[in-house]
Amino acid sequence: MTAPLPTGKGPLPTVTAITAVGSMMELFWCCLPKDPDSVVISNRFAIEDSGLALMRHGMRPVGLAECLGPASCAEGEDRVRKALGGKAAFVRRPADQPGLVDLLYGPEEADVREAARVLDELLQAKTHRPDLIKGMGAYLGYPACCLEAFCELNEFEKRNLGWAYARLRAECPGPVDPRQNPFTGLKPYHLPCGPNCAETLALIDAAACFMSSEAPAMLTNELAISTCPIVFSLGSFPSFSLLLGGKEQQPGTLTYQRAIAFGGDPAFALLAKGNRLEIHEGDLSLFSGNVPIGRFVDQFAVWWWRKAFDHEYWLGEVMRRAHGH
Ligand SMILES: [Zn+2]
Repeated sequence: MTAPLPTGKGPLPTVTAITAVGSMMELFWCCLPKDPDSVVISNRFAIEDSGLALMRHGMRPVGLAECLGPASCAEGEDRVRKALGGKAAFVRRPADQPGLVDLLYGPEEADVREAARVLDELLQAKTHRPDLIKGMGAYLGYPACCLEAFCELNEFEKRNLGWAYARLRAECPGPVDPRQNPFTGLKPYHLPCGPNCAETLALIDAAACFMSSEAPAMLTNELAISTCPIVFSLGSFPSFSLLLGGKEQQPGTLTYQRAIAFGGDPAFALLAKGNRLEIHEGDLSLFSGNVPIGRFVDQFAVWWWRKAFDHEYWLGEVMRRAHGH
């Protein structure tokens, strides 16, 4: 079965048709804040983000906020009503995630309703069915190349997105475009087919372009986040901690001024107490000055635009886990 195409406002523009945003890199570098203390992590379940900007401009039929509890549901619905006139639908997560729902929202009620039907089928299915993934992805405005790549992922990575992102960064050990940082509010919420996917970058650019006039403060903030080293949780993705003022003092050693955490991983509280990380093959040792205060083994990986740490280790480890040995 193939999910019907979104009915929204005519056909979606292809990313190559998006207005050229040649000045984006210029804007990007101008936006970097001088004061790292001014950076905040916005609520990723808020809907006033890049995804909503893309939706307002007809590039994304439906938006999705996953795994909301009752309080977030009420808040989310209220925001949808204010921002879009109330086209929202809730889909219950399966029985192993009791009490949690996904919120779908968009300007066209028919799209939201049909996307909710596809999502419900996807959540109930015991396997990741490519037809449903591609159908859902079309509603969310995800690039076809990335959806194709997602369908071909091994089951281990599909179920452990933190590991998939560790592998993705490791595939391109040198610098990548900072805008591809998956932990900013600019990201379009899908796993890119590669760390330099041009279609993903075009979506990020389009969102940033809209935000530069509609939400300039948020854009500034998110661009600043995009250049920070980020420690992310392999097991509870997308929990992460920004390392503000992060620098590589010597190969494999990151120093930072302040860590700000997002998401529920309690180990991040410890990062806030330290100022130096030594990174070696999946093993992150944390120090405050010269005092060791914590050690995390195969628990966190680091995303930084300047380089991938221990890329050979991550590529090997993901393959080893994917094949169950
Ligand atoms: Zn792609």
